[in-house]
Amino acid sequence: MARRAAQSSDSQQMLEYPSSSTAMMHTSVVSCRRSLGVLFNGLLVSVVAALLWEYSKLREHAAMLEEELHMTQPSQELTQAHLDYHLALRALHEDGTRMVCSGKMHTDRICRFDYLCYNTEAEEFVFFHSNSSIMLPNLGSRRFQPALLDMSSVEDHSTQYFNYLELPAAALRFLPKPVFVPDVAFILNRFNPDNIMHVFHDDLLPAFYTMKLYSDLDEKARLVFMEGWGEGPHFDLYKVLSNKQPLLKEQLRNFGKLICFTKSYVGLSKMTTWYQYGFVQPQGPKANLLVSGNEIRQFSKAFMDKINITVEAKGTDGNDKDKYIVVFSRLTTRLILNEAELIMALAQTFQMKVFKVSLEEQSFPSIVQVVSGASMLVSMHGAQLITSLFLPRGALVVELFPFAVNPEHYTPYKTLATLPGMDINYVSWRNTKKENTVTHPDRPWEQGGIAHLEKDEQERISASKEVSRHLCCRNAEWLFRIYQDTKVDIPSLLEVVREAVKSQHGFKMSKPASKIHPGRVREAQCHTSVQAADKAKITVSWQIPWNLKYLKVKEVKYEVWIQEQGENTYMPYILPQQNYTFSENIKPFTTYLVWVRCIFSSNLLGPFADVLVCRT
Ligand code: UDP
Repeated sequence: MARRAAQSSDSQQMLEYPSSSTAMMHTSVVSCRRSLGVLFNGLLVSVVAALLWEYSKLREHAAMLEEELHMTQPSQELTQAHLDYHLALRALHEDGTRMVCSGKMHTDRICRFDYLCYNTEAEEFVFFHSNSSIMLPNLGSRRFQPALLDMSSVEDHSTQYFNYLELPAAALRFLPKPVFVPDVAFILNRFNPDNIMHVFHDDLLPAFYTMKLYSDLDEKARLVFMEGWGEGPHFDLYKVLSNKQPLLKEQLRNFGKLICFTKSYVGLSKMTTWYQYGFVQPQGPKANLLVSGNEIRQFSKAFMDKINITVEAKGTDGNDKDKYIVVFSRLTTRLILNEAELIMALAQTFQMKVFKVSLEEQSFPSIVQVVSGASMLVSMHGAQLITSLFLPRGALVVELFPFAVNPEHYTPYKTLATLPGMDINYVSWRNTKKENTVTHPDRPWEQGGIAHLEKDEQERISASKEVSRHLCCRNAEWLFRIYQDTKVDIPSLLEVVREAVKSQHGFKMSKPASKIHPGRVREAQCHTSVQAADKAKITVSWQIPWNLKYLKVKEVKYEVWIQEQGENTYMPYILPQQNYTFSENIKPFTTYLVWVRCIFSSNLLGPFADVLVCRT
């Protein structure tokens, strides 16, 4: 991940051209800007102009910025702004900083602050202590083991830690006059804003749902990106989250030396992320996924509404003649060398129209529009596959992998497609023919070049048939292989796709009732009897869960566990009825513990009712 300094330009230029982008992303950014520009036009004119600072225009820009941000600055005249400024300053002096956080660990913590400040020279956040300060959790020096919280959604990444420096509020007298940000600020780090997959997975989805967590993080919130990167090629996508222009770290210094956020939240919810990139163990799906396709789709819907995209609800149930395939093309690296041939073959085999898109040639909204109606998305492995977020239910993702790259080891898009309730079919294909691959040993290392390595190592890598699992991010063999271009073997690909289409699940819109879990069974009770010195019975009965009478559930079953007190094994039974007499292995004059729960449709488990203590 290369860091790039953002360029500054004057405001007019900024409205016409992207301020910083690779040539590769240029076209899409310009068009994307145009469409989103309609949404944000009013804001852009004043805000963007003000944010792009040039020394010679300092005063003029300062006035515009103040107007837009309503920043309260020290002022000579007795105006409302003057009064507001003095009230804010008094509050900061008297009350100091107040912080209350959620979360037990730095990895799941989000903090809310009143009067969190930032020193733009020291590049440090500042917590001012006064008699009214609050710091909860009060961790003492554990705050540095290793940090208070993660500022990005990537778990426990040392470059993404947040902390603050402490000062007594009395020190304010010796510090530069603070500038107050009156908006509710949402302060976070973008993880890799150059890469469209990272933009959605690490930033947009987590930010969207963090904003749902706190009612004052609404469309009027001011996002503040502290990772230190420039806008990046996808900045417009971040503007969808709020009606206010996001601020970048480098812009803060334009406002002054000491910036104080009146109200702010720091940190991002990780609840929606589904993939870990391999910093401590080889990459793969996160353990204990907490997100389902429903939440992903709610996000995608809100996102599409914001960029004015409407979907015709045809999905894959629609008329066959309306169905089409999207081939997502990359124009710079990891190319499909026989793309035209591939497109022809897909069209002929499946008798469908095929549309080709690329981030380089289409605006992002227009790509979302076409993907949101597609029956199949075919693409080389790569960030562009994050657009499967917008596929209709029942669509098929076909992910192609270059030679020597095992699809099972790199599954961000497979994991997304197969999240419960995402209802997307997924199949991968890999190039197994070495003669069909084109390597690039002489490129820079970050594009897979290996010329800088020892001869032996170069030879080993060139001869290897599969990259073994590895950690992120600079494994030369992995980069060498993943940046190969591929001549796709059409017959073998078609076979894989045909099979996938044959076994494709339609994923009809599942009715809400089919996802609802049972409540506890009610009035569970047991009766016991002893038949002989070695024979006893336990009759257990219960009533249906309260929510069942409002639901149409095809199959309702009950699970009963019986455990002899003091033993650590139990006997499980699945029963269709609401009572049962157990006699097998039941001993007289013994205490049994009995648990009962309801199960809908064989996999929707309910909670156990309170344990029954049954003495024979
Ligand atoms: N990209 C692109 N066309 C290309 C190569 C890259 O649009 O030919 C985009 C890609 O989708 C991603 C960014 O550029 O958003 C970085 O690509 P890279 O190959 O580094 O990442 P990957 O796609 O492997 O995640």
